[in-house]
Amino acid sequence: MAGDKSKAGDASKPARVPSRAASASQRKAEPISASSETGRKTPTRKALAKAIKKVVSKTTARGKANVAKKTAAARPRSARPVGGSERITPSRRMTPKEITQLFERFREANPAPTTELEYSTPYELLVAVALSAQMTDVGVNIATRKLFPVANTPQAIARLGVERLLPYIANVNFTRTKAANVVATAKQLIELHGGEVPRDRDALEALPGVGRKTANVVLNTAFGEGTMAVDTHIFRVSNRTGLATGPDVRAVEDELLRVVPDAYLQNAHHWLILHGRYVCKARVPDCPRCIVRDLCHFPDKTPGNAPPLEVAPARTRRK
Ligand code: SF4
Repeated sequence: MAGDKSKAGDASKPARVPSRAASASQRKAEPISASSETGRKTPTRKALAKAIKKVVSKTTARGKANVAKKTAAARPRSARPVGGSERITPSRRMTPKEITQLFERFREANPAPTTELEYSTPYELLVAVALSAQMTDVGVNIATRKLFPVANTPQAIARLGVERLLPYIANVNFTRTKAANVVATAKQLIELHGGEVPRDRDALEALPGVGRKTANVVLNTAFGEGTMAVDTHIFRVSNRTGLATGPDVRAVEDELLRVVPDAYLQNAHHWLILHGRYVCKARVPDCPRCIVRDLCHFPDKTPGNAPPLEVAPARTRRK
């Protein structure tokens, strides 16, 4: 009986549950990728996580934003649009007649526009433009007002050297990089161009820190050539109005060179910059006071009425 009881007792005992540690090691030993009984492969834990991440990135707003960010970062810098991610779509392109009217009005309002950078020689302009990347013209002028009375030729800047140049441009961003470029440019001008600023795009773009935009500004403003240095303001105004549309600065530059009549080409660059800086501003364009409002095809104009605003009338070329 005793034996029976013990047997009965054994039978009624619950099955032995493996300890937590044991089940963990068991889990480790049995990868999820093991083939199931049906022969179909189940995904690994890693593959499963990857698939979930992919679905999340395609469906959630945050995921979509991340994908867009990665795609934009993958594009070459020169091909990226400037002026933020704002949607800029004119209802239609401007006609040649409208383009002529637009520049006629700009000319009437400001017959001799020029850059707001202060300079008196092509070399001073080159230095000022080199310092102006991601800086306001006002900030650059603060630096060059101190620098140019001390050193305003390639020879003087080369003699000054990077370390002694730094204090003069301390308010400028990327100070050391820009100082190094300015000094290296000065040396290159002395060695290859007799200390003169070359009137040649390739030679300009070969200078340290000088890109297409800087070369365009120097060729246009110092040498009077009909080049178009497309910055964030020109890109925005051209796309909003329908004057020249394009996905990146180079496309807009090429289009502007095609559509702007020769008579306005030299000053077009300054008119468009000033218009973008003071009237057709990035966040809230001053459409009620815009002198080309009736010619512009931007569908999201700021509503309202106000007296027309001249395009920076005080900013005219120095005699
Ligand atoms: S109407 Fe408005 S959007 Fe068009 S150019 Fe003038 S300020 Fe810019």
